[in-house]
Amino acid sequence: MLEESLSNGFAKLYLTGLRRFVKLLTNQLTWYGIPYEFKRLPSTACPQCGHELERSLGRVMICPICGFRADRDLVPIQWAMKIIHAP
Ligand SMILES: [Zn+2]
Repeated sequence: MLEESLSNGFAKLYLTGLRRFVKLLTNQLTWYGIPYEFKRLPSTACPQCGHELERSLGRVMICPICGFRADRDLVPIQWAMKIIHAP
C-alpha cells in the first residue's frame, strides 16, 4: 500500500487521516442503519480464478492463468466487487 513509500512522519499522518475517515464513514453508516463489515482483502490473489498474481512493470499485477490484470492497489477492490455480487 501507499504507506510503504512514505517516511515515518508522513505514514503516521496518513494513518491518522485514514483512521479519522474510517470513523466518519462508520458513524455515517451506523446513523443511516447501513450494515458494514471490515475485511482484509487479498492483493496478490486473482479475483477471477484465485491463482497467485505475478507482479509486472510498476505496480501492475497479472494473472498467468486467466490474464486478469490490474494495478496492485485496485486488486482488493475487485475482490470486494466479487464478494458483493456473489449470491
Ligand atoms: Zn486469474
